[in-house]
Amino acid sequence: MAGPRPVVMSGPSGAGKSTLLKKLLNEFDGVFGFSVSHTTRNPRPGEENGKDYHYVTREVMQAAIANGEFIENAEFSGNMYGTSKAAVQAVQAKNLICILDIDMQGVKNIKRTDLNPIYVSIQPPSMEILEKRLRDRKTESEESLQKRLHAAKVDMEISKEPGLFDVVIINDDLNIAYGKLKDALLEGGKKT
Ligand code: ADP
Ligand code: 5GP
Repeated sequence: MAGPRPVVMSGPSGAGKSTLLKKLLNEFDGVFGFSVSHTTRNPRPGEENGKDYHYVTREVMQAAIANGEFIENAEFSGNMYGTSKAAVQAVQAKNLICILDIDMQGVKNIKRTDLNPIYVSIQPPSMEILEKRLRDRKTESEESLQKRLHAAKVDMEISKEPGLFDVVIINDDLNIAYGKLKDALLEGGKKT
């Protein structure tokens, strides 16, 4: 695929991916562009359809997947998520570096495509801190929270697999983590 290498950001729910991404997209407006995924989950307060996600029903999403419109898709915490070809193309058409925020299944599936991104894993300092951040965010029901914590344990184990990620960033202090993210992306840019 022509153009600069896309960036895949992954890591447990609540690790801080969206927070770091928003900082990056704000500081480097005109450099990076966000691949807007589809999901069947409900929007959170403050989230916008078409900006944070395309919010769709399971039926619509399944039909689009069957129609070959998706690069990858996964079931996470009881909902469907997926990256459409159109989402990535919309970013690349503007000559921006495409950023994908996807779960571990997405990472494994993207590895089977020709997208060739830089793989960044954002990890929390500990399970305890992750749980506190997720609870304090106040976006999840107790059931959804437990599902996310379970998925996080699996994610944190798999993330240790050598070679799976180009960079692993522990998001303890936000500004330090953000600095590391910027360093990693500037390094990655040099290798292309
Ligand atoms: P994700 O997108 O990975 O699910 P978020 O970006 O929503 O995670 O972060 C989860 C919560 O933790 C949010 O409420 C966010 O404000 C908070 N948060 C993110 N990074 C930090 C940090 N370094 N220190 C403290 N709180 C953080
Ligand atoms: P949330 O509901 O917190 O926004 O996202 C839950 C999880 O779904 C996160 O790990 C996020 O990275 C992942 N996710 C978001 N969009 C996609 C996508 O298009 N594909 C995949 N595989 N995962 C996604």
